Amino acid sequence: MKRRNLFLAAPALISTINLGSKPAAAQVQPTQEWSTLTYQPMVLQQQLAANQQVIFDKPFGHFFKPDMTVPTEAAKMLLRGPLELEQTLSPSVADINRLLDLAYKPIERGYALLEGDTLYVQSRTFFPGAHTDMLKWWFVWHPVENERYMLWYPFAHVANAIEDSVRLKNRSLSYEERLYNNPNYVTEYIGTTPIDIVINFKDPVELGFDKAALAKSGFTASASGTVSNSFVPDGVSSLMVHLGRNIDGGMELINRYWIGSHPELNRLRPKGESFKEKIVKMIAPKMTIDTCYEMAVHDMIEFHHLAQILPTLYQEFGQQS
Ligand code: ZN
Repeated sequence: MKRRNLFLAAPALISTINLGSKPAAAQVQPTQEWSTLTYQPMVLQQQLAANQQVIFDKPFGHFFKPDMTVPTEAAKMLLRGPLELEQTLSPSVADINRLLDLAYKPIERGYALLEGDTLYVQSRTFFPGAHTDMLKWWFVWHPVENERYMLWYPFAHVANAIEDSVRLKNRSLSYEERLYNNPNYVTEYIGTTPIDIVINFKDPVELGFDKAALAKSGFTASASGTVSNSFVPDGVSSLMVHLGRNIDGGMELINRYWIGSHPELNRLRPKGESFKEKIVKMIAPKMTIDTCYEMAVHDMIEFHHLAQILPTLYQEFGQQS
């Protein structure tokens, strides 16, 4: 068994987190207990040291914060084992649209291995004092330099490049025009495994979300798309959903990931049997319940960390592209 003892019960009070000057921060649950991450695999410690070498003299270097915390309850949720299958969603059009139903109340955080050896992760993260404009800004600001991407997860994020950086930086265009169909080339660690992926952010309607339901649900930011592995760049190995909406005191972000050969992912893939076989052979055997858990931990850490730095980062660099 691999060591899973990621968190020491050493809570840090929410008041230690810099929430900026927004009055909304007062609405954060004051009694929520936070835990410091006290375990990182050796390869991630080495990556942190390498990242520190290149980021320290950047103007945003003071936002590089290796002391990372997560809500203790969030970490405990992931220690309860995989979700039951009825608590999960498939990547079908019908299922992803349940996310837009205000009556749908899923378990906040969890993971499972679905059919087709498909990794599945679900999460909801609260961003105190943030709003969806900040999230949109983040997704067009950070791919410009590797070092910006490192802020998000100082131990595990290595590099991020954008296909068309001129379009990405063009402030006369909308967020959607800048980011969608403008591939991001990402290198990061999930657990101890280095991965090279291509993220193709797309209009959520193109991914199967209902336009009217999307508007009604209040989600005003989407950073959702398909993902390919660099060794099958013409393919689609996953569907990734990030939907943000403004709520009392901040923003909530709803995330879902499906990685593997789930039959419902075929609707997002180029046609052709040989292509599907290639995906099944290369991706599916790599997906195990261990990789599901590691992905859930990665998501929990990076989005809670982003939630802690985003309002003040935006305050300082929000006018920069
Ligand atoms: Zn990441």
